[in-house]
Amino acid sequence: MPAVTERRTAVPITARGLRKRYGRGGEVRALDDVDLDVRAGEFLTLLGPSGSGKTTLLMVLAGFTRPDQGSLRFGSDEVIRLAPHKRDIGMVFQNYALFPHMDVAGNVGYPLALRGVKGAEQARRVAAALETVQLAGYGARRVDELSGGQKQRVALARAIVFEPRIVLMDEPLSALDKQLRERMQIELRRLHEQLGTTTIYVTHDQREALTMSDRIAVIHHGRIQQLDAPQALYERPLNRFVAEFIGESSLVPVQVAGGHAQCGEQAWALAADAMQGVGAMARGWLMLRPEHLRLLPAGADATAGDNVMHARVQATVYQGESYLLQAALPDGTPVAARGTASAGAMRNLPVAGSEVRLAFDRADAVLLPPE
Ligand code: ADP
Ligand code: MG
Repeated sequence: MPAVTERRTAVPITARGLRKRYGRGGEVRALDDVDLDVRAGEFLTLLGPSGSGKTTLLMVLAGFTRPDQGSLRFGSDEVIRLAPHKRDIGMVFQNYALFPHMDVAGNVGYPLALRGVKGAEQARRVAAALETVQLAGYGARRVDELSGGQKQRVALARAIVFEPRIVLMDEPLSALDKQLRERMQIELRRLHEQLGTTTIYVTHDQREALTMSDRIAVIHHGRIQQLDAPQALYERPLNRFVAEFIGESSLVPVQVAGGHAQCGEQAWALAADAMQGVGAMARGWLMLRPEHLRLLPAGADATAGDNVMHARVQATVYQGESYLLQAALPDGTPVAARGTASAGAMRNLPVAGSEVRLAFDRADAVLLPPE
């Protein structure tokens, strides 16, 4: 049995109007008035491309970066003026940031030593933390004798050893190879379920975010674009950036009228909730995921209620478990459909230049604002 099982009360995090600018005239908006509500005990991921402001936000939460303005509460405590070591936060960095001259126990015990926990009590808690990350018995090893995955476990043990109220992780798995990364994703999730600590995790990898998170905050240009559960984010993105950053999508420019989206001569029925939060728009983008577009065999009828899109094939690409069919609408808009690459499907794929019909359920189409 892992020994660090005692649950402390998890705290919610409330950030309001966090702003951080860099550059002489403040032209780099690393954080552009960020509001963020993290629930007590939640695993929340900050997902965004390089330079979007993820690390800056994490550093502001940890207290290493002072924001230009804004407020930050952990539970009911305002912490914006508190020094990092008084914030009760465990941190894991991408490059491990271990002390090379100390052994594993020295590294893991360091935060305890800082807090005045010494001797047998320190040894007991270090052993418990090492057991939690499945490194029991590694205390006397030198850090430079460890593999990348083991180093990251040591960093993790060091972050949780003092049972912090909050754990922050900045791309902790990005230096590991794919297999180890996927194993560690599952382990980090398990550890979170065991400890119940409010956790903020940073990654630029959308699949990692979808796999691990209770909720995901998509960040771009220092702003949170959308905060939602993984499935809601994938199925109902709120704007083009989110739609294109998470998964694959086709975006068709449309005019909207009478519950239909129109592009050139074609019109497709919209589901009532496709316009969620968009209101009555005259123009927008119809977003379709490739796996939701089905290639209709020549002569076959579409299922009643399905929308049908007429397009011309540009290419078909074999991708192992699936094929990708790339096509264009009459106005040139590219659309992509994905299907299972069974022997039968591969035999009957249309050739480039041919006209095809692509069917989709109106419930799978989302209308996005024009911007
Ligand atoms: P991410 O972690 O998402 O890659 P960062 O938070 O590191 O993004 O950076 C956000 C923006 O702020 C980038 O444009 C980056 O160049 C800029 N930035 C971050 N830290 C500094 C700094 N100390 N000085 C100047 N610019 C910075
Ligand atoms: Mg970063």
